[in-house]
Amino acid sequence: MGYIPYGRQSITEEDIAAVVQVLRSDWLTQGPSVPLFEKAVCDATGASFALAVSNATAALHLACLALGLAPGKRLWTVSNTFLASANCGRYCGAGVQFVDIDPRTYCLSVDALRAKLEQAERDGTLPDVLVAVDFAGQPCDYTHVVDLKRRYGFRLIEDASHAIGATYGDFRVGSIPGVDCTVFSFHPVKLITTGEGGMVLTDDAAIAHQLGLLRSHGIERTPGLLQDQTQGAWYYEQQTLGFNYRMTDMQAALGCAQMLRLPAFLARRRALCARYDEALASLPLVLPWQAPQTCSARHLYPVLLPDAARRAKLFAQMRAADIGVQVHYVPVHLQPYYRALGSQEGDCPVAEAYAARTLSLPMYADLSDAQQDEVIARLKEFLT
Ligand SMILES: *Cc1c(COP(=O)(O)O)cnc(C)c1O
Repeated sequence: MGYIPYGRQSITEEDIAAVVQVLRSDWLTQGPSVPLFEKAVCDATGASFALAVSNATAALHLACLALGLAPGKRLWTVSNTFLASANCGRYCGAGVQFVDIDPRTYCLSVDALRAKLEQAERDGTLPDVLVAVDFAGQPCDYTHVVDLKRRYGFRLIEDASHAIGATYGDFRVGSIPGVDCTVFSFHPVKLITTGEGGMVLTDDAAIAHQLGLLRSHGIERTPGLLQDQTQGAWYYEQQTLGFNYRMTDMQAALGCAQMLRLPAFLARRRALCARYDEALASLPLVLPWQAPQTCSARHLYPVLLPDAARRAKLFAQMRAADIGVQVHYVPVHLQPYYRALGSQEGDCPVAEAYAARTLSLPMYADLSDAQQDEVIARLKEFLT
C-alpha cells in the first residue's frame, strides 16, 4: 500500500495552474495574489484584517511585537504545542512560561490558567501576552479565557495553526471576540498549504497597520502617514525595525486555490474522524473528545494509549508497518533550551502525562478509505 504519513498536502492540477499563471505574470514577490488571498481568508473567517507572511512562526513573531511584547515582559503559552508558540516570545526578548492543559481537550486549561494568574498577581509577575493554541484543530475555551484576559489585562494571541475553518459557539476562528490576533500556518501538513506560509488576522486597524509595517522592514509609504511631508513620490520612511516576512505571489496564488477547497478538506477530515471514532471504539484507546461548543478543523487525530510503554511499542510497530504515526507534542517546557531557562519536570503535569501516552494517527484530506482501513486493521492487530 506504500507509506502512509500522518499528514500531507493535497494538490490538484488547478492548484498547479494557479501557481504557473503567476510565474508567467509580472509579479513574483508580494503582488496582486497576496491581497486576494488575504481577502479570501477574511471572507471565510469573518476577520477584518489579514496579513499573509512567510510562515506562521513569522506571523506569531509579528503578532507579539504588534501587541507590545519586549524585553522584560512575559509571554505565557501551553507546553503541548509546536516550539514556535513559545519561541515567538523569546524573539522579542520576553520571558516564557507554560500553563498546563485540560485533560480532555489537550488545549489550555482554564483552571490552570486561573490558578497561575492568581499566583502571578500575588508575585507581581502577570503575563503581557498569552498564546492559546487550538490543539488538533479544536478551539480553546475562549469565553473563560477572555474573562480572565479582561480581569488580568493581558493580550491574547490565538495560535490557530491547526484550526482554519473551526468554529467556537457562533464564532468562526479568526473572529472570536476578545482575541487580539489569530495566526494560521500553511505548512504542507496543515489544513491548507502554500508550501511555507502563514497569516495573522486582527479586527484592530491600528494593530493591522503595525503588522503591515513590521512585515516589510518597518517601511511606511502612505503619503499622509510620513513624518517628512516635503518629499517627492520616490520617498519612503523606515519608522520602526521590521523584517522581510513577505509571502510570494506564487504562494498566495496557491493559497487562493486551496481556500476554494477548504470546505471539502474539512468535510473529508470530519468524515475520517467519524470513521476512526466508530472503528476504534472497542480498542484500549482514549479517542479525541470534542467540547460541545466547538467544531474542530480536525488537523490531528491523537489517541491515548494506557501507558508510556505501550505507546512506545505501538509507535515502533506502526512505523515498521509503514504507517507514519507521530507524537504531538514533545513538551516544549522540557526541551533543553527551555530547561536551561528554568523550566522543569512537574511544571505541567497533565501535559507531561499526555505526552507520554499520545499517538497521532494519519489524518489528511487525501487519505483514502482503503488507506484508513489499513491503519485501523494494523491497530486492531497490534492492540488485541
Ligand atoms: C505548524 C505550527 C506552527 C508554525 O508554523 P510554520 O508555518 O511552520 O512556521 C506554529 N504553531 C503551531 C501550533 C503549529 O502547529
